[in-house]
Amino acid sequence: MSLRVLVGVKRVIDYAVKIRVRPDKLGVVTDGVKHSMNPFDEIAVEEAVRLKEKKIAKEIIAISCGPPKCQETLRTALAMGVDRGIHVEIPDAEFQNVLPFHISKILAKIAQDEQADLLILGKQAIDDDCNQTGQMTAAHLDWAQGAFASEITLDDGHLVVVREVDGGLETIRIKMPAVVTADLRLNEPRYATLPNIMKAKKKPIAKKTPADFGVDITPKIEIIKVEDPPVRDAGVKVETVEDLIGKLKEAGVV
Ligand code: AMP
Repeated sequence: MSLRVLVGVKRVIDYAVKIRVRPDKLGVVTDGVKHSMNPFDEIAVEEAVRLKEKKIAKEIIAISCGPPKCQETLRTALAMGVDRGIHVEIPDAEFQNVLPFHISKILAKIAQDEQADLLILGKQAIDDDCNQTGQMTAAHLDWAQGAFASEITLDDGHLVVVREVDGGLETIRIKMPAVVTADLRLNEPRYATLPNIMKAKKKPIAKKTPADFGVDITPKIEIIKVEDPPVRDAGVKVETVEDLIGKLKEAGVV
């Protein structure tokens, strides 16, 4: 097979950063904060690169929608083995209110323009925790979808996707073109090596806007308030099981 595979790579605040709410309580502090590729998107890229290494995919295109710095995220994807990138630029101020609804419309249009066979996204972005983009993109395209994939194989021109569901694994066979979203156990993404980082600098990144794909990103929501989670009281350490039972009795738990 020689599939054309698209992957979505979102630039998010790095998973290890302690998030701080902005003083105006309308968002979180992003200035001077380390950003990285959304971890589930690294898994999506890895899966696409493995398909290319197995000669199942012929071309991999990564797409990132967001502010200019998304170019760095695309470079990381290119260094992992992606062939070319598409940056759909959305300025910081507007990006705040952009929803999976808008992103999925952009991804769907690119999938059509590029005549993609497979679109691999992360199961969710760790900043907004939406878990909507893959499902919505499949709906816009009227394509099959395999969400929360922990294994993907090919069988007679179809995709066999093992999905992580409550209490077990579900195996489905889906027609292509299709949308798949990557779960944590799909693979372990590689690190980009220095020679590949150098090579990635020469790979092309096309610069576009949502308007180029006929997508209107006028906000549909207004953020009213962003709050820190409630502060929890510090716990206490106990030395023995007897102490623990004593404390639990004091608290009326046992
Ligand atoms: P979400 O529905 O926001 O949780 O995102 C699910 C997945 O959609 C992410 O893991 C990405 O693969 C893709 N995605 C979401 N937002 C973007 C974006 N701005 N640019 C590229 N891909 C995105």
